[in-house]
Formats: sequence, structure tokens, C-alpha cells
Amino acid sequence: MQRRLVQTAIPGPRSLALQKEREGHVSGGFGATVPVFVEQASGGIIVDVDGNQLIDLASGIAVTSVGASAPEVAAAVAEQASRFTHTCFMVTEYEGFVDVAKALARLTPGDHEKRTALFTTGAEAVENAVKIARAATGRQAVVVLDHAYHGRTLLTMTMTAKHVPYKAGFGPFAPEVYRAPTAYPFRSPVGPERCAEDALARLTEMITTQIGADRVAAIIAEPIQGEGGFIVPAPGFLKGVQDFAREHGIIFIADEIQTGFARTGTMFASEHEGIVPDLICTAKALGGGLPLSAVTGRAEIMDRMAPGTIGGTYAGNPVACAAALAAIGVIERDDLVARASAIEGQVLPRLRTLAEDVPAIGDVRGRGAMLALEFVVPGTTEPDPAAARAVAAHCHSEGVITLVCGTFGNVIRLLPPLVIEADLLADALDVLEQGIRELG
Ligand code: PLP
Repeated sequence: MQRRLVQTAIPGPRSLALQKEREGHVSGGFGATVPVFVEQASGGIIVDVDGNQLIDLASGIAVTSVGASAPEVAAAVAEQASRFTHTCFMVTEYEGFVDVAKALARLTPGDHEKRTALFTTGAEAVENAVKIARAATGRQAVVVLDHAYHGRTLLTMTMTAKHVPYKAGFGPFAPEVYRAPTAYPFRSPVGPERCAEDALARLTEMITTQIGADRVAAIIAEPIQGEGGFIVPAPGFLKGVQDFAREHGIIFIADEIQTGFARTGTMFASEHEGIVPDLICTAKALGGGLPLSAVTGRAEIMDRMAPGTIGGTYAGNPVACAAALAAIGVIERDDLVARASAIEGQVLPRLRTLAEDVPAIGDVRGRGAMLALEFVVPGTTEPDPAAARAVAAHCHSEGVITLVCGTFGNVIRLLPPLVIEADLLADALDVLEQGIRELG
């Protein structure tokens, strides 16, 4: 049984010494949510260099769904690394790449014929999805949503909504990226019931009047918006966007980089919305902790490009492919889809009860093991980022790793590894609850 253990201040003396060392050598552009240095991690626990055992409610931002040292992943990595670490798939090929493509064809929504292109990071998958959509349609415009997050490269930071810290000072941005309204029930100008219909009407009007639907190559959406605040779109919104895209020959891309691989209580979050994306971007949990990303989509779109037009030196690295196959094996064998639903069943009712008592909690939302609390000035919908920061700071000092997100920085998000033990999660929730009650 794993347990939380806080035996020094967080960060402890060894972490503080390493932090000082880091400051002299590592770019100041990197932040650190909890500035502890890690010795070992598994299941729901991260052990730091001072011997503290922290409960992990972050999973390295939705990556280590099967745990940070799952034996199956570690063994597959070691076995593959002992045979070869790299050839470059564009020079000489290997089976692991094809096997990951096969697994993605089987697991992603829709029973149409599919092809996959593997890359390394999430941003690279999104960049390539846009390239593929432009090549397939001969059109240039790309439509993204309010509160979207798609990465930190030039194109993907342009596609990302939030100014600080993702865009400020980093312009000029990429051309032909247009932002449309999203359906954010808690902040809908017409209320949650009419939210989907209203957002869809504004999105379609924006596209037809400001861009021209026949100029749009792709509309890209996260089925639950991640960095933007764990925004679950109002029911029917994404289906409406997909139908509009189909009607106008626009490629509909789902960015399932954060939501994919059992995280939301289905293998992919698109399934909750009844949508079948033309292209789907995956990364994070796909690689079981190693860097691997993918674009999977309709064969007729994916095969439109000539050989040599997409790729990358490390695209679909063989060690990362071996890790992915092992991680997918664990997700399926241990039914982590059901485990994510069980986490929702354990956490969501508790957060909802707490929200009835605490007026600073404006909204509780999420699916599966992707859950969040939005903090507001009591009695209003005015975002209260200081409250979210105070709760996170309490959790960190008590040995629970939580992340803050949201366009307004006022959302605490919970992303535990899907293999976390129920008792450990309950302990983390006790700490979180204490931090929230201390807000007064
Ligand atoms: N898209 C979504 C929805 C994400 O959550 C992220 C990362 O958080 C990305 C894209 C970018 O992925 P990466 O950081 O691997 O480039």
C-alpha cells in the first residue's frame, strides 16, 4: 500500500540545494509547479530526494496514466534499447512503428480505414495535422476555439488562446489561424441550457462571414479543453461543429493529446460527444512516459501526401513505440477505462458536496480522472486565481501535487495516474478539502 509522507518542509534541504544549482545552469524560462527533485516514482506516489512521498495528482500533465515506472513499460524499454535505440523510420523501418499505428487504428473512434503518422511531441502532432489538412484540402485557414491549448511551437502557440505565459513577447504569430467561440457552460452569456446552440451559431457565423467556409482547411477542438480550464463543452456543441465541418468539406480534427487513452472514462473523449473526428492527435499517455505522438485519420486524407513530405528524425522512435505498446497493453489488460470512471465516482460527488458548502467554488466539472474546481469571488462568477493558488500551495506543503490551469488561472485540476490506489486518492482529497475550507 502506498502512503503520503512529509518529513521535511516542501521543498526539503536537498531539493533546495539542487534548485540553487539549477538556477545557475537552466534557463529561467522553465517554471516548476512544486520545486522538488525526484528520486523515484510509481503508482500514485512521487518520492523526492529528501525522502518525502508526495501524492501525484498531475501524472506529469496527463502522461503517466499507467504509473511512472510501470514494470511492463520499463521492461519493454530495456528490451528495445538493448536491440537498437534508433534508426530513423525514414531511413530503415521497424515493426514497432507499424504496431503502434495498428493499435491506434483499432482504438480511435470510427471504423473507417485509417492511417497513422507518428511524431514525438503533442505540438508536433498538431502541426502535422494542420499540414495534412491543408495538403488534403488545398485550403489555408485553420479555426481554433476560445480557451484552446495546442502547444508552444510557433504554429501551436498561435493556435493557443492564452496570452501569458504562452504567447506574450513571442510574436509575430503564424498567419491564417482564426479563433471562434467555444461552449463554456459556466461562463456562457446565455446560460448553460442554451450554451451549445448559442456558441455554435456564433462559430458558424464567424466562419461564414469573416473567413469563408470554403477557405477553411480544418477546425480543431479539444473534446475537453485542458490548459484552458478543463472545460467540458455543452452537450451537442462538438457534434454541431463536426456536422458544419462535414457540410463544408472542412477537416474536423480532435486534439485528444490530454484527453486520450482512458483518461476521461472512455478510451477517447470524442466518444462522450458522439463524434468521429477525421483526424485525431494523440501524445502524452500514448508513450507511457516516453515522448511519442501521433496523427491518426481517414486513409484518404492521410495518404494524400507524397512520400517524404512528413516525418522527422525522431518521429516514432523505436524505444518510445515499445513503451507505447506496453502502456496500451496495461490500459487494456487492467481496464483503466473503468478505473478512470471509478475515480470520477470517488471524486466528483465529494467535490460537488464540498461546493454546496463553499461559495468560493463556482463550478465542479470534468470526466473520469480529468476533474476540476473553478474558484470565484463568492456570489459572483468573477475568477479568483488567488484562491486557486492558495489551495494549490496548501496541497503542495502537505505533500499533494496539484496543478492550476484555466484562462483566468482560477482552476485546480486533478489528473491522478489511473492506477492510483483509492485510499491514497482519498487521503489527497482530505488534504485538498482542508485547503479549500481554510479559504474561509
Ligand atoms: N494539445 C493539448 C490538448 C495539450 O494538452 C498539450 C500539452 O499539454 C499539447 C497539445 C502540446 O503537447 P506537447 O507539450 O507534448 O507539445
